[in-house]
Amino acid sequence: MSADAVVLTSVTRGYPGGVTGLDDVSLRVPRGDFLAIMGESGSGKSTLLHCASGLDVPTRGSVTIGGVEVGRMGEARRAKVRREQVGFVFQSYNLVPSLTVRQNITLPLRLAGRAPDDRWLGGLIERTGLAGLLDRMPDELSGGQRQRVAVTRALVARPAVVFADEPTGALDERTAAGILDLLESLVEDLGQTVIMVTHDPVAAARAHRTLRMAGGRISGVRHRAGAAA
Ligand code: ADP
Ligand code: MG
Repeated sequence: MSADAVVLTSVTRGYPGGVTGLDDVSLRVPRGDFLAIMGESGSGKSTLLHCASGLDVPTRGSVTIGGVEVGRMGEARRAKVRREQVGFVFQSYNLVPSLTVRQNITLPLRLAGRAPDDRWLGGLIERTGLAGLLDRMPDELSGGQRQRVAVTRALVARPAVVFADEPTGALDERTAAGILDLLESLVEDLGQTVIMVTHDPVAAARAHRTLRMAGGRISGVRHRAGAAA
């Protein structure tokens, strides 16, 4: 098992028309790291997230997830790596409205043809406080509850890394703090690696490190006081 969850080496992602999404970015994310990515709109945050998660491939450079090079894989093989190694949490939750909470949570396993690990799943549901909500439909939940379902779903396949794109962007301050508590506990107690794009300095302050993006490059890195470098 690779010691690093994600490694980007000299990753450039160009778009048609000469637009540069990412410009020669190198980044090592050790297992257990909690990384925040900030930066103005258009600075390359989404492109970085997409390349680092195997949703997209770089024009140049290398991307490994859990030690596996995905930068030159075709979509089908990348989809398999994503199913096995990557969890996603989005601002808009992206739950399937026609499935119950329980079915939403276990969907990644069904897609991968895997049986749930009942002990892991039970522990996760206890941690995320969803035990009483498993038979509800998503539209019967509050925003904070929906995001807890999405976080549980992201963890269900025990991924090498969870990518969170503005996970608290649609939540009020108090509910957002609850989701950040949850993400923090996953990192601190379970050693889960989390990479989170956020506009919120309060959210970024929970991470071990915060990268600032500008013009497709990493323009600064800040370590939280007391966090391992
Ligand atoms: P952010 O997420 O920080 O707002 P993005 O990664 O979405 O930034 O965008 C970085 C740059 O790449 C911007 O100039 C944007 O316009 C451009 N870009 C992003 N996606 C595409 C695309 N699919 N086609 C063309 N240009 C794109
Ligand atoms: Mg974006």
